[in-house]
Amino acid sequence: MRGKQAVLAGLCLIATNQLCAQSGAALSPAVQQYVSINAPTFALTHARVIDGTGDAAAEDQAVVVTNGRITAVGPTATVPVPAGAQVIDLTGKTLIPGLFGMHDHLFYPAGGTGGQRNHHQFSAPRMYLAAGVTSIRTAGTYEPYNDLNLKESIDEGSSPGPRINPSGAYLDATRGRVSSPEDARRLVNYWADEGATNFKAYTNIRKEELKAAIEEAHKRGLKVTGHLCSVTYQEAIEVGIDNLEHSWGPATDFDPNKKPDQCPPGAGRDKSTLEVGSEPVQALIRNLVMHNVAITTTPAVSECAIPGRPPLRKEFTESLSPVTLEARMQNRRRPYTVADSLRVERNEANARRFEKAFIKAGGHLQAGLDPTGSGCSLFGLGDQRNFELLVEGGFTPVETVKIMSYNGAKFLGQADSLGSIGVGKVADLVVLDGNLVQDPTAIERTTIVFKNGVGYDPAKLFSAVKGQVGIN
Ligand SMILES: [Zn+2]
Repeated sequence: MRGKQAVLAGLCLIATNQLCAQSGAALSPAVQQYVSINAPTFALTHARVIDGTGDAAAEDQAVVVTNGRITAVGPTATVPVPAGAQVIDLTGKTLIPGLFGMHDHLFYPAGGTGGQRNHHQFSAPRMYLAAGVTSIRTAGTYEPYNDLNLKESIDEGSSPGPRINPSGAYLDATRGRVSSPEDARRLVNYWADEGATNFKAYTNIRKEELKAAIEEAHKRGLKVTGHLCSVTYQEAIEVGIDNLEHSWGPATDFDPNKKPDQCPPGAGRDKSTLEVGSEPVQALIRNLVMHNVAITTTPAVSECAIPGRPPLRKEFTESLSPVTLEARMQNRRRPYTVADSLRVERNEANARRFEKAFIKAGGHLQAGLDPTGSGCSLFGLGDQRNFELLVEGGFTPVETVKIMSYNGAKFLGQADSLGSIGVGKVADLVVLDGNLVQDPTAIERTTIVFKNGVGYDPAKLFSAVKGQVGIN
C-alpha cells in the first residue's frame, strides 16, 4: 500500500477506501468551494425518486441522510425528519442514484480527430461530478500514474471528483506494451501492485496474450474488459473475459474475412444489416449470458460519427479551449452524405435491438461515454447523452437509470453500498430539475450532486472548467 493510502485507511478502518473517502470533515478548501450542502443530517423531501433497482418511479418521497448514509426512504408524509436536520424541498425535481460511467476515460483528444490525447486531471473530474457521474471506471489509460494519483487526491479530499476505479495501462501492442503472454502477465501484476483495479484489452491483443492477462487478473480478483478486434467475442468468452466494450460494435465474429489473431481492416463496424434474431447472433447472446460476460454500451461516442450531432450544449462549447473548440466545430462541419448518416443511425438502432435481446436473455448491460473519437462526447456530458440515446433507442427511463447506476455498481462489486437509493446505502445522489420519466433531457439539468452525502454545485464545477478542456 502506498503512503497516502495508508494514512487514509487509518481514518477508515472498516470501510474500503472507495467508500469512506471524502467525508465532509476531511474536504480541503479546494473542494469546499464547490460544496453547496454539507450537513451531518439532512432530508430531501417531495422528490420523485427513481431508485436505480428498476422499480418504478415513486412520487413525493423523502430521503433522509445521516453522516453520508441513507437512513430513511419513503413517502414525505410518513418519513419523520430528525430534529436539527436540514430540509431541502425537491418539489418538481427527480432524484436518482449517482451514475456509474463504465467507459469514462480521463483523457480527451485535444486537437482534431486522431490528435493527441491529453489527460485532463483538472476538468475531467469536475465535469464528471457536475454531470452526476459519481463513479467512473477509466476503462483504459495512457497515463496510469496520473489516474492513480488523481484517485488518491480525490479520496483524501484534496480534489473534487468522482470515485475512480482505475484501469491499468492498455493491454495490447499498439496502445500498450503487450507483445507476448509473458508481457501480459508481467504488466497485469505490475499495475495491480500499483493500485489498478481493472484492465482493458485493446484491439490488437492476441488470444494467448488475452488469456494470460485474464488468468493473472482473476488470480487477484480483478476484472478484464476488452475493446477487441483480433480476438472475436466468442474467443474472448472462451478465455474468460468479464466484459466487452462498445456493445457488439467491435465483434469480428461475423466477419467472413476474419483470420486468427488478426484485426481485419474496417472490422466489425457496420452491423446495420445483421439480424439480431439470426442464429449466429442468438448463439453469441446465449454464450455471453451463460458465461456472465457484461456488455458496456457507448452510444454517445457512436453518435459522433453523425456530423452535426449531438445538439450543442453551452457546457460543451464553454468548457473547450479556443483551439479545441475550433477543431470540434470543423469536425461538425465536415462533408458527409445522407447515406452515411442513415447507415450510422441504422447501425445504432440495431445495436439497441441487440442490447434489448441481450438483457431479455438475462444479460448484464452497463454504459459509459468514451471521450475519444472526434471528441463530441465529453466528460459527463456524454454520460448524460447516453441516457437520452438509450431512451431514444427504446429503453424506458427507469431501465436506463438502472443500466447507468445499479448495473455499474454491481459489476464492480459495490452494489451493497452504491448504485441505488435505499436505507443503508451511501448517499451518492443526483437531483435533476424536471420529470425524468417524461423528459429525458432532465438528465442534463443537475442541480445538486451528492457524493458521500456532500452536495456539490454543478454550476460552480462547470464554471471552473470554462476554456480548460484541451489544456487541463
Ligand atoms: Zn475508450
